[in-house]
Parts: sequence; C-alpha cells; structure tokens
Amino acid sequence: MYKVFFITFGCKVNQYETESLKTTFQKNGYEISDSQDSADVIVINSCTVTEYGDSGVLSTLRKARKKLPSAVIVLTGCYPQANKDFAEKLSEADIITGTKNRQETVRLVSEFIENRFRKIEISEYTRNDPFENLDFPEFENNTRTFMKIQDGCNQFCTYCIIPYARGRCRSRNIESVRAEAEKSALIGKKEIVLTGINLAFYGTEYGMNLADAVEICAEVDGIERIRLGSLEPEKMSDDLLKRLSAVEKLCPQFHLSLQSGCNRTLKAMNRHYTAEEYSELTQKIRSFFPECSFTTDIMVGFPDETEEDFRESVEFVKRIGFSRVHVFRYSRRKGTPADRMSGQIPERIKSLRAEKMAEAVKESEEKYLRSLVGKTVKVLFERENCTEFHRGYAEDYTLIKIPCENSEKSLRNQLICVTIEESRSGFCTGRIADGFSPDLKTGQ
Ligand code: SF4
Repeated sequence: MYKVFFITFGCKVNQYETESLKTTFQKNGYEISDSQDSADVIVINSCTVTEYGDSGVLSTLRKARKKLPSAVIVLTGCYPQANKDFAEKLSEADIITGTKNRQETVRLVSEFIENRFRKIEISEYTRNDPFENLDFPEFENNTRTFMKIQDGCNQFCTYCIIPYARGRCRSRNIESVRAEAEKSALIGKKEIVLTGINLAFYGTEYGMNLADAVEICAEVDGIERIRLGSLEPEKMSDDLLKRLSAVEKLCPQFHLSLQSGCNRTLKAMNRHYTAEEYSELTQKIRSFFPECSFTTDIMVGFPDETEEDFRESVEFVKRIGFSRVHVFRYSRRKGTPADRMSGQIPERIKSLRAEKMAEAVKESEEKYLRSLVGKTVKVLFERENCTEFHRGYAEDYTLIKIPCENSEKSLRNQLICVTIEESRSGFCTGRIADGFSPDLKTGQ
C-alpha cells in the first residue's frame, strides 16, 4: 500500500479540499501518512494569495524533492492554476494540477506510479464551470468541520489573484449540503464552518442565498453550531439577516472583510462599498444579532496609500470595535491591476504601517475581551489532553481557556457553559458555570 502525505497552504477551502482528497486516496487503496519521511507520495496543495505564500510553496517543493528523490510529488492548487507557465517548468514536481478536477489527482498519481510519465493537467476556467462535489472530508484531527459550499469569485478586487485561480462564482446544490451535514453529524461533529471563496454569493445561480444553506444544516440533529467563514459586505441583505437571526444554532460571529477604512483606497481596490456603508452594515447586523462579534481582514500599504489615508483607516478600525483583525501588507500579484499601479509603497513603510495597525487592533481586541468578563458562554472544547488549560471557542469565536482542575476528564468535543472570569491577551479564562458539570453532560 502506498503512503501519501499532504502539505496544505492557505484558506479553509484549501484545507477542505485536502481533507477530501485524503478520503479519495483512501478509497483508492492509499494510506494517509502523518510523516513526510515515510511517504511514497507527497501532495502539496498550494496557495498564491501573497508573494510570501508563493515562496513558501516553492521552497517546500524543492525541500521535498531534495529529501525524497524517489517520491511521487504532486503540486496542485492555486499556485499552478494562477501561474501556469512558471509552474510547468518546476521539474521537482512529477504531477502538476490546478484547482479544477481535484478528484482526478489520485488517477494521475496511480498512472505515474505505473508509467513514470510526468503529467501536467491545469484546465482553464470557463464561464459555466459547475461546482465540483468532492469526497466527504472527515477532518479527523479537528473538532469542528469545514464544509465548502461555494467556489470562485466575480469581484476582481484590483489586488487579488483569486478570481484567476478559482474561476467564477458557483455553488454546491442544497441537497448535497444537507447530505454532508448529516454525514458530519454521524461522525460526531457538532460544529460546521460553512466556507467558500466568496461565501456571501452562495446560491445566487439557484435563486437561493446563504440562509438556505444555514437553515438546512440547522435541521440536522447532532449539529449544534453553524459558523460562517469569511464574508464580503455585499449580499448582506435585510432578508438574509432576518432569516439568519432566526437560526438559533448560528454562531453570532461575522468575519466581514474590510480591507481598508479609507474610501480613496477602497475605490482603488475596486471594493464595492464605502467605509460609512461598512459601518452601517455592522450596525444593521448588530440590530439582528445584539451579542455578535466582528472579525475582519485589513490591508496596509496599498499602492498610493498616503499617510493620511492610512491614519483614516486606523481610526476607522478603532471605531468598529472588532474582536479580531488579521493585518496584511499589500503583496504585488503579477497579472492584477494593482500590480501595474504607480505609487507602490516601499516594504519598509508597509512594515511600519502593519505594526501601527496591529497596535490599534490590539487595543480593540483587548477591549472586546474585557467586555466579556462576568458573562457565561457556551464553549466547544477542542483538545484531548489538558496541559494547564482545557481550551475551546465560544459562539462569538473567542478563545476560552479553563484550568485543568475543572475536569480530570477530556472535554474534547463537549459543549459546556463557562463563566468568564478574566481577559488576557488573545483569550479569556473562566470556570465551568455553576450547576453545569461535564460528568453529567447536562445542558447539551
Ligand atoms: S472578493 Fe475580492 S478579495 Fe475576495 S476573493 Fe474575490 S477578488 Fe479576491
């Protein structure tokens, strides 16, 4: 039996596709290896969102080839899909595929093992590509499971390479969403994270929207929590929010991608909202979800961003009161409009701005965590073994840690009420709420 080892870069969609490929390889008689050294086949599922990501993929490929000269090496995913000409020349890889026809990967590997013919199969996207249903991913090592329900993006933000790597928007049919939620419940998963490349566009081609997918997952017994992956501010209509707010199992956490708090920069990024509209949207969402949390992505150092633009963005981020913010430095992507723009910002300035933004963000994050002290929240615990703390996430995606003495037993995959006693940097600590004992497994 051949052993296959996976290396995954990038987003939840890529992680989902890797877990699904594991199932496909197992179904075809391969064994999933948890060590690269003992693997016969190595699959590198790549990302190309940033320059930094690209160099990580290339160095991983070269190291793998050097370490395992006779292994079958597959380079797949967004990097080869968006950088076809360059990728084809990467002789370290025996098989190169893109983001389409993922299921074919195992056939290509089996053929290569037979005939040792190098294979490059990177199919171009067309306007009408269907959503590719993949094998059921077990996410054995994860407590929560991801479910990919949408792929592609039609927005073409000027800095972004993703539409070139993922094609146009397309959605998974709703019955397949239900079936996978049922399978996830059967293997004991309690939380599903719905994910996509542009999730907010789910269901457009079927006259549906994200609420349809959330409602159908909520109907499944055993699924206790549904979390939404990254969302673009478009499509967050009153009707959608009204329906989502009626789903008790929906976690009130919204990762609403902002990118900049400055209108001049948002316009240059081809983002389809102003800072004011974004702020109004967060207030609207709060009117449906009073206890919700907002997380986001913010970019600094976009071409032609002045000190004034940057300050405006920092002040805006402070005003919203995010619970968590991912700060990115603008990364030039060949083939994107922003790459051809004048006013490229020196790396030194980008780093300075990223530091300043991170400081401002830290203040918001700590202020948010302080506001939780004294509250009782429901936590899905994650780790098997307790080293100092049992840890898990609350519904608003706050990391919660409780000292091990709260329970000698593992709390993994248990939903438990915790009273928050203290906020720390990046997480809160607490104790199991009075009247709630994991031994009795009450309140599930
Ligand atoms: S919405 Fe913009 S940033 Fe997001 S994937 Fe699409 S093009 Fe990229």
